Amino acid sequence: MVKAEIVEGWPKENSIRIALSETDASQVNAIRRALISDVPKLAITRVNISQGVEEKDDGQILESVNVLPDEMLAHRLAMIPVPTYPEEKLDYFETCPVCIEMVEAEKGCPQCQVLYSLNAQGPAPDVEEDYITVYAGDLKTISDPMYDIKEEHRRIPITILSKGQYLELYAFATLGRGSSHQKWSPVAGVGFSGRNIVKLNNAKKAETLFSLNLKTTDGRDINAKLFGKDKTVEDVNTVIDLEKALHQVGPGTGREADFDGAISIEPVDGSYVLSYETDGSLDPVTAFNQAMNELSNRFTGLNEEITSALK
Ligand SMILES: [Zn+2]
Repeated sequence: MVKAEIVEGWPKENSIRIALSETDASQVNAIRRALISDVPKLAITRVNISQGVEEKDDGQILESVNVLPDEMLAHRLAMIPVPTYPEEKLDYFETCPVCIEMVEAEKGCPQCQVLYSLNAQGPAPDVEEDYITVYAGDLKTISDPMYDIKEEHRRIPITILSKGQYLELYAFATLGRGSSHQKWSPVAGVGFSGRNIVKLNNAKKAETLFSLNLKTTDGRDINAKLFGKDKTVEDVNTVIDLEKALHQVGPGTGREADFDGAISIEPVDGSYVLSYETDGSLDPVTAFNQAMNELSNRFTGLNEEITSALK
């Protein structure tokens, strides 16, 4: 049975490190793939853009054009992280029980899609600016306010509008999986490596490294003290810092001979460190638990093997 534990100090914003034990590389890889391809998230998948010319009360004529073709606009909207809440149990658009009997054009209901509107226009004729930028934050939720684009994503630029231009659209977000399109993949930079411990074999020769005055990510000096009484470092974050530091005394550095393997890296059987970040549509802990769900739903045999969820 895979054991999963969040490494101390994580998640940091949308990034996380998770220590997995009592497992093997193929199981960890299955989790990696589930994170990329199987964890459902919301993404804008349909856009209705208004076409035409509008005359304002002050006589200003506005035209529905901007610098980007509609297809590119739709793609940019698709890539904006839409807040996703698994506990809301939205239905998939294609299989929504409310919409399944409807003709294609009428499909879509509060149970299977989240609706946004956007209404922006270029600068007024009498202002100095030549153009304005339309941002993700200009999307207004028509569904529940919980689906408002998150603060951290509101400054994603969508397009620009010059004087005399306007952009008016409705955007529909639906649940999907990364296996059918990248816009539905909630994670990036998913990788894993075997978990190691680091041992201090020769404190005197290790001075070759210690004398470089390197520090760990959290600001501790890399020296003999780090290794404690048992001359071993097991903490995942410190091990990763030490692995990086050891490049300074490795092959090609001219220090290899003096260092002489004074510190060694040893693998921990059946243990791995998985790291990734989400696009912010889901927090990384929720994404992991969803990936485990997807795996156990898919392979009933794995059900008993993969049951551990993060708290
Ligand atoms: Zn529906």
